[in-house]
Amino acid sequence: METDNPKQPASLPTLNPVDNSIKRELETLRRKLDIIDQKIVSLLAKRHAEVERVVALKKAHNLPVYHPAREENLISHCRNQGAEAGLDPDYIEELYRRILRQSRVEQTARLARKGVRAGATVLLVGGLGSMGQYFHKWFADAGYQVRILDRDDWSNADKLCHGVELVIISVPIEITTEVAGRLGPFLPIDCILTDITSIKERPLNAMLEAHQGPVVGLHPLFGPTTSTMDKQIIVVTPGRDMSACRWIIDQFNAWGCIILQVNAEKHDEVMSIVQTVRHFATFAFGQFLFHKQIDLSRTLEFSSPIYRLELGMVGRLFAQDPSLYSEIIFASPKRLALLKDYLASLSNNLAMVEKGDKEMFNVEFKKIAEWFGPFSEQAMRESTYLIDKLIERF
Ligand code: NAD
Repeated sequence: METDNPKQPASLPTLNPVDNSIKRELETLRRKLDIIDQKIVSLLAKRHAEVERVVALKKAHNLPVYHPAREENLISHCRNQGAEAGLDPDYIEELYRRILRQSRVEQTARLARKGVRAGATVLLVGGLGSMGQYFHKWFADAGYQVRILDRDDWSNADKLCHGVELVIISVPIEITTEVAGRLGPFLPIDCILTDITSIKERPLNAMLEAHQGPVVGLHPLFGPTTSTMDKQIIVVTPGRDMSACRWIIDQFNAWGCIILQVNAEKHDEVMSIVQTVRHFATFAFGQFLFHKQIDLSRTLEFSSPIYRLELGMVGRLFAQDPSLYSEIIFASPKRLALLKDYLASLSNNLAMVEKGDKEMFNVEFKKIAEWFGPFSEQAMRESTYLIDKLIERF
């Protein structure tokens, strides 16, 4: 057969009898795979139906969604089963983590619809802000009556506070203590007063002073862009009458949060390292790139995935509100002292490089690696996982 296009061959190559039999065999194998895939999907649907029954039971008894021990047992069991069947255990683990996450997210979404104390009135002070709007949605979806007291509503404070069972202060960190003091006279004695500030000691003391009823400090270790609270950590710092505060902790638990209870002083001490030094170092690195006018897109082209991940963390900081970070970094003289220690440690390292003392570098490196201990392996595993995901996606 002639073709109009001179570049195309006059006729397509025909399959010889051997090719045809390969084609038939391939089709048979593909049909078998299709049947297996259908079975996998229908098994997942059956699993989903069983999960629905678990949700109903958990809902009836206010049980938490996440059961870490059960999940880890299941994962190790599946890994072993996979290995026995000649499959890569990591592959099985990854599949199961995805299945379990889906199940948790669905359970959380269903459980979120019923509040532990549905119908109770919740007042969000600063409710028009990012975190305020986020919690507004969650509480309203769970059947709570939500009221908002934002900066222009103080003339109405008396009415807004009347009959409330829970007050959450979600205003900028620097005015949390002042707002607690202002709220105090309006609060019913038996309502719970809480805040979600990223620092805890001063706000908690201010709340205890302002209100004689139940008080508890909360610090969600997540921001308003988090679509689900599944496995998100919320730090609880006890104030007064924790038994009266129990239901709000149960509520976060029902939404899928992991509760970490610790006293406010300890929280601030650990956060000094986790947040202050980390954010300061990230800020300084971003600032340095800016001062050097580094060509970001060019460096990204040449970058390894781990550098991309690190740069992603830096870029992420600068995509947010500066006051969130300034309040954490500038929070206290203790934090300033910690930053000075950090800087002194950096200066020592610079002196080591200036001296060309590689040996000292290696000795220090080994000492630190030993101190990190088994965490190094965990860090390697977790970061490799993230890098793989990054490569898979982008
Ligand atoms: P935001 O600036 O988005 O919102 C603050 C809200 O408070 C605004 O609506 C503002 O109008 C209101 N406000 C200001 N002054 C007020 C006053 N005198 N009386 C009443 N309302 C007033 O801030 P955000 O990001 O929602 O942060 C709120 C709190 O949540 C902070 O304490 C922060 O530490 C904490 N937090 C934030 C994040 C996050 O990622 N954004 C994460 C964890 C905890």
